[in-house]
Formats: sequence, structure tokens, C-alpha cells
Amino acid sequence: MTVMTRSTNNIARPACRGPASQHGILPPYLLSRLAQSPDADVAARARETLRVERTLRVRRELRGSRSPRGRVEAPPAPGGAGIIPDALLHRTDPAPQVKDGPRVAPDLAGTTASPRRRVYDAEHRTKLPGVLRRAEGSPPAPQESVNEAYDGLGLTWRFLFECYGRDSLDGLGLPLPASVHFGRDYANAFWDGEQMVFGDGDGRIFRSFTDCLDVIAHELAHGFTQYTRAFVYVGESGALNEHLSDVLGVLTAQFAAGQSADEASWLIGAGLFTPAVHGVALRSLKAPGTAYDDPVLGKDPQPSHWRDYVRMPHDEEHDNGGVHINSGIPNHAFYLAARQIGGRAWETIGQVWYDVMTRSTLPKDTDFVGFAAATLGAARDRYGERSAVHEAIVQAWQSVGIAPAPRMHPAYPRPAEPPGWPHSPGGAG
Ligand SMILES: [Zn+2]
Repeated sequence: MTVMTRSTNNIARPACRGPASQHGILPPYLLSRLAQSPDADVAARARETLRVERTLRVRRELRGSRSPRGRVEAPPAPGGAGIIPDALLHRTDPAPQVKDGPRVAPDLAGTTASPRRRVYDAEHRTKLPGVLRRAEGSPPAPQESVNEAYDGLGLTWRFLFECYGRDSLDGLGLPLPASVHFGRDYANAFWDGEQMVFGDGDGRIFRSFTDCLDVIAHELAHGFTQYTRAFVYVGESGALNEHLSDVLGVLTAQFAAGQSADEASWLIGAGLFTPAVHGVALRSLKAPGTAYDDPVLGKDPQPSHWRDYVRMPHDEEHDNGGVHINSGIPNHAFYLAARQIGGRAWETIGQVWYDVMTRSTLPKDTDFVGFAAATLGAARDRYGERSAVHEAIVQAWQSVGIAPAPRMHPAYPRPAEPPGWPHSPGGAG
């Protein structure tokens, strides 16, 4: 029996934060477009959301550069200079090596690990976290959005733990605080590096952001990415950062619903729009570019093939080089491979993507070709060179115009493990 316990040593966490910047589920170009809507009410609410986001950005930059005592803080993981050595923060997960078959689910009997949730009510202000409404293990609160956030955080934690044996975003039991009712009609949700923040939506275009499990999982996945490969949030590596969040978003929703790859909708943010919007979701992995086509929001701009990669300046006004746009290309490759493999996507291709994030040495500024090569290397290592999983991933990348040399996986060397390296969370069994 495997007994997995959270590390209980007394070593303090390094004074590092998660992602250095917040990435809301709504891309800035959507909010900018709404801010110019002829509907004065919609425009005013979008402008308010953008104003709050600018304020948060400035606050974050000030906070990130100085500790309360004016000292420079350790940079966010990876690369942290905290008391816990870098290598410990990046230790690889205890992934069973399985050839040509589904992975072995960890034996959870006797586990003592559980999420550490605290859900606060920001009471329509922008001061975080707000008033505590529900702590881990306590009964449901009167507020529906508190319970939705609590459940969404719990399902995402369960997904990572039950499918991949990972205790929270950092693998070390990182607490998961969240604040709901953030701001007035605030139309976004984000992970700020330390906690989740949910707006109530503007009521005209967007409903409450606690409604969608895939949105919650998408945002938490930005924390996961920061604690693993930390893809730089700009250009191709930024689009991969968004891609990883969409992948974990849809896989968490599929896991929670027990859906196979052919049963799933492959949508991000389904149910987020009010009925007034011509659209089904924010993004579609199945058919990028088709999620919405609306007089107010415009048309979903995502490409599904490398030939349509959208080149934009690498600044915040241009979505950091189109990170929410070009993610459509790897998203579609993931969808194609998952459908080709069939069954429960999180058990096969999801495991391969997880391996890339936790076991590869991909650089932070990797590009699509480098990432694709790493997925082939991970698929080869887990399933074998000519396995159905490996073949499906090769074909999927080729279908979207990304064709890494099949025998070159320079970005996926086997992880070097120092002597005496612990092989599982907490060093237990
Ligand atoms: Zn995102």
C-alpha cells in the first residue's frame, strides 16, 4: 500500500510567489473590444474591469520587487533562491513507467493528503482576500459562489492528485485560497500567484466566473506551469503556457464528468456567456476559431494550423504576442491526438503532457517545435517508439503543421537524479 503524506518537515517555504503575473481567463483583446461597445453599459463595465486589472498590475509589480521590509524577494520558482534548494522544488514526480498501456493509478488507500482550501468573500471590493466564508472541511456556506469555488478548487486538486499523484500545484501541498465577489461586475477570473480571484461577471455578456470548472482549472494550471516548466508568457512559449492551462482545464472537466475523449465538448468556458451572446464558449480545442462569432465580441480569432500563426508585438496591448490566440495550434494538436487514441484522455495523452511538464528539461522560452519534440520523447519513454500513443501524437503535430524530427528529442533527456533523491512526495513509499 502506498501511503502518500504531505511533507511535514519544518523547512519554511521560500519567500517566492507563483506566477509573476496574473493571466485572466479573458484575453485583453476581448475586454478592449467590449470597452468600445456601442452599448454604454457593457462598455462601462468592461472599462471598469480593465481599470481594476491595470491597478492590480501596478500593485503586483510593486509587491514583486520589494518585500514588506524593502528587501528584494526571491524570484518565483523556478530559479528561486529560497531555503529549499531549487532541485527539491523541481524534483520529478513518481511516475510509473508503463509501456504500451494505460498508466497505473496511484493507490490512494491510506492517503493523508487533502487540499487546503479557504474561500473568502471580497464583498465587491478589490482588497484581497476578504472575509473568510468557508475553510477546508467546513460545511457549505450560504453563498452559492463560495461553494462553487470551493468545489472547483477541490476537483482540480483531486484531478492532479488522483491522476498524477501530485499534491497541489507545487507538488508540496500548496494551499489554495480563493476570493469570490471580487470588484463590481468584474468580468474576469485569475490566479494571482498566491490565490484565485473570481469576478461575478457583468451580467450582460458574462455570467459568474465560478460557474465553470474548466475555467477554475485553467487558472490554477497557470500556477502548476509556474512551478514546473515556467513557460515565459510571451510569443510561442506564452501560447504554450495558455495551451497547458486549456489542456488541464478540459482534462479536469472530463475527469470530473467521467467523459471519454469522444464524449467531451473540448470547450473552455462553456456556460460563461449569457444567452445574449452568439457563441458557445471562449475557446474550442476541437475547432479553434469557432467558439463565438458575435456582433459585440467579434469572431473567435484562434488558428488551428501553424500557417495561420498570428504574429503580433510582444506587449500587453497585443496579448503578449497573441498568447490566447496562437494557443489554438497546440490545442488542436492535443485534441486530434486524444481523439485518435480514444478513451480517457487524462490517462494517456494527458499523462504524456504531464511528463513533459514535470520530467523534461525544456527551457522556459521553448517554442512549438521544441515542445512537440518533448511530447514525442515523453510518449516514447512511457509507451514506446511505435506505440499507438506515440504515433497519434506524431500525426497530430504534423496535422497542425508542426513536424519535429521524430528521432530528435534533445529537450527530453532523462532527468538526472542526485544520490539519495526522494522518489515520492514526502519521501514515503
Ligand atoms: Zn490563461
